Amino acid sequence: MKLGLKNRVVIVTGAASGIGKAIAVAYEKEGARLALADINLEGLKNLKKELKNEEIYVEKVDVTSAEACEKFVKNVAKKFGKIDVLVNNAGTAKMGDMETFPESTFRSHAELMMYAPVRLTQLCIPYFTKNGWGSVLNIASIFGKQPGGLLSYDTIKAADIMLTKDFSSYCAPFNVNVNAVCPGPVDTPLWYADGQLGDQLAAATGMDKNSAIEWFAKTNIPMGRYAKAEEIASAVVFLTSEPAHYITGVAVNVDGGMTKCTL
Ligand code: NAD
Repeated sequence: MKLGLKNRVVIVTGAASGIGKAIAVAYEKEGARLALADINLEGLKNLKKELKNEEIYVEKVDVTSAEACEKFVKNVAKKFGKIDVLVNNAGTAKMGDMETFPESTFRSHAELMMYAPVRLTQLCIPYFTKNGWGSVLNIASIFGKQPGGLLSYDTIKAADIMLTKDFSSYCAPFNVNVNAVCPGPVDTPLWYADGQLGDQLAAATGMDKNSAIEWFAKTNIPMGRYAKAEEIASAVVFLTSEPAHYITGVAVNVDGGMTKCTL
């Protein structure tokens, strides 16, 4: 299948690590022109080196800052003359007690995973309408559809699915599709890096990190393992491709069968 992504200008946020990095690599293979944002500039520079592609535009952007997002989108449009695809991927997660979950953490998660996608979509719409074509992909989570026990994360990912739906209705007349991908657990630093979900799960279960993750996969995921980041990237690339352009307003699970709800 020809995906029609050659020379499409694609923004990916949170591209220095994990799923975002795999998404950037997958678009690069399709011949897309990349604009990558992350707070980790070093990681972006390393990825650019890895891909041996001098044209890739990288910028240190904290997507929770309205000013930084505005500057980034303007810089991308100036460099490439257009913007075709926006992938809102930057994110994080934290386990926490339901009764004492800190409001400040909840608010910072909302800034990062809810307001940032809204802001960036709003900033890109004028470029999409100018093109007469555009595509937005939000990385939500299966925990936006059924509870995963992560209070702020589940709530905000559910909001991501709804904002996807709202923007899809608004943008459809401009030939812009807006979809979400809902991963189950994915083998990325979000689980494996020090202090992240793997360590938090280990503390909660009394197991060591690798055993806790393996136990979680075997007891919760019918396929018995976490996804590889590349398996999420394939769905993302397809949904923003030409053959998928009529698909809009959907939230596609990529979860090895973990979701139990029918949506
Ligand atoms: P990751 O920690 O490997 O990567 C997240 C990236 O986001 C990092 O490069 C980080 O620097 C960047 N980032 C964080 N805050 C930022 C900010 N303020 N501005 C710009 N960049 C920022 O995590 P991942 O697993 O690749 O997660 C990517 C997305 O996928 C997140 O939205 C996450 O919620 C979602 N997700 C992950 C899983 C999973 O199991 N890993 C499952 C479902 C959904």
